Amino acid sequence: PAQPVYAGDLPEGLKKISNIIAVSSCKGGVGKSTVAVNLAYTLAGMGARVGIFDADVFGPSLPNMVSPVNRLLVVNPENKSILPTEYLGVKLVSFGFAGQGRAIMRGPMVSGVINQLLTTTDWGELDYLVIDMPPGTGDIHLTLCQVAPLTAAVIVTTPQKLAFIDVAKGVRMFSKLKVPCVAVVENMCYFDADEKRYYPFGKGSGAQVVQQFGIPNLFDLPIRPTLSSSGDTGIPEVVSDPQGDVAKIFQNLGVCV
Ligand code: ADP
Repeated sequence: PAQPVYAGDLPEGLKKISNIIAVSSCKGGVGKSTVAVNLAYTLAGMGARVGIFDADVFGPSLPNMVSPVNRLLVVNPENKSILPTEYLGVKLVSFGFAGQGRAIMRGPMVSGVINQLLTTTDWGELDYLVIDMPPGTGDIHLTLCQVAPLTAAVIVTTPQKLAFIDVAKGVRMFSKLKVPCVAVVENMCYFDADEKRYYPFGKGSGAQVVQQFGIPNLFDLPIRPTLSSSGDTGIPEVVSDPQGDVAKIFQNLGVCV
């Protein structure tokens, strides 16, 4: 595999992580966080040691999607490292657990905050760290790739035709950063009603993406009220319905990363 572009020495807190998986999308609201969280809990369900890093400083969604007892990150007084909070055995770090409200920050500050949260956390030994990337293809992504050697990227999109252009942007960005895109998830693809399957946005551009960019895996995720309500209950869908068809889709995705 290609060498990652990260510069300098690997921060101490990241040294015992085997795989860092970026879950990314060009636009907000396509289900990136939903995919990141359910992927993480699927991997944990398969027996892996897992952490989630919510890199979305402006709209951290992790605090709504999981329900840890302790909702504040703790700083180790000895070495000043951040100790993640935890829910069902998955380690969690989000700006939303940092005890601050929505902050107004300039770009470089955001990069700084993300850098600090990611690299001063004592993640311990992990098989997977899943990073819920901020939407877009900007500075923050470059920063993250420079401080952490990403193993693979999963791109989340919706089936509209225009979304194809976004996926192309994402794939190009990761290719420049020398991070392999292992899968595309087309979210909100279809729904089932009256024993029929409906594709409200048409049959997506997924097949075209796979063909054009040679991405080996494509997953279609249905529109599911339970996927959206799990964002309110704080229990990921793959945890509340581990035998469901959504859980099966995530198990297949889990095998790819
Ligand atoms: P992003 O991280 O891309 O901004 P989110 O994962 O926060 O997107 O999802 C945006 C909203 O859509 C959330 O309220 C989420 O619960 C809902 N949602 C995402 N995927 C689905 C789905 N497949 N079915 C139903 N609701 C979904």
